[in-house]
Amino acid sequence: MTTDDPAARLAGVHDQIQRAQRLASRSDAVELIAVSKTHPVEAIEPLIAAGQCVFGENRVQEAQAKWPALCEQHPSIRLALIGQLQSNKAAEAVALFDEIHSVDRASLVTALARAMDAADKRPACFVQVNIGDESQKGGALVGDLPALLKEARAADLPLAGLMALPPAGVEPAPYFALLAKLARYHGLAGLSMGMSSDFDTAVTLGATHVRVGSALFGARA
Ligand SMILES: *Cc1c(COP(=O)(O)O)cnc(C)c1O
Repeated sequence: MTTDDPAARLAGVHDQIQRAQRLASRSDAVELIAVSKTHPVEAIEPLIAAGQCVFGENRVQEAQAKWPALCEQHPSIRLALIGQLQSNKAAEAVALFDEIHSVDRASLVTALARAMDAADKRPACFVQVNIGDESQKGGALVGDLPALLKEARAADLPLAGLMALPPAGVEPAPYFALLAKLARYHGLAGLSMGMSSDFDTAVTLGATHVRVGSALFGARA
C-alpha cells in the first residue's frame, strides 16, 4: 500500500476483500484480523479509531503486555492468537483470546480443554494444518488431521475451522484450495487463510478469516 494513513489502509484492505468476494459471488462475512504483532499500542490505536475491532497476536506474553488496557477501553475488541502455543500457556491464552488459530497437537487440545473448563470461557478454535508438509513449520500434518480433529471433538473444543500458512515463495492458491477441501470434508465452516500478500486470493477460495499485518501496519522492524 502506498498510503501512510491507517484508516486509508484499512479501507483499501476492505475494498480488496469486497472485490474478491464479488469475484467469487460470495455475500457471507469475511473476518479481517489485523495482525498487530511487534507493533506498539500507538500504532494500534489509529486502527481502533478507524473501526477495526479484531486483532491478532502471535505471542501470549506480548499480547498480555499490550492488550488488557486497550480491551478495557474498547470492550468490542476481540483478540485472535495466531502463533504457536505452548501447553503451559493454555490458561493464559484462554483468558486473553477470543479465537485460537494454532491448535496443532493432541497435548494442546487436552491443555486447552482443561483451561476452558476451569475458566468457563470457550474461545473459538482453529486447527492449524501444515498444508505444504514443511518440516520447519507448525501445524498438524494433513495425514494426522483426522485423528487430531477426533481428539478435539472428543474434548469438546469449540471447533470453528482450519488454519494454514502456505509455503513461502510459491503460488498459494492450490494450498488454499486444499485447505478448503479439507474443511468441507470434515464439516468445518471456518477457513483462516490469507495474509497481506495473498488475502484476496484466499477470499476467492473461501477464506472466512484473513490475517493481515503489514498491509495495515506497514512493514515490521
Ligand atoms: C505475521 C502473521 C500474519 C500476517 O502477515 P503479513 O504478511 O504481515 O500480513 C498472518 N498469519 C500469521 C500466522 C502470522 O504469523
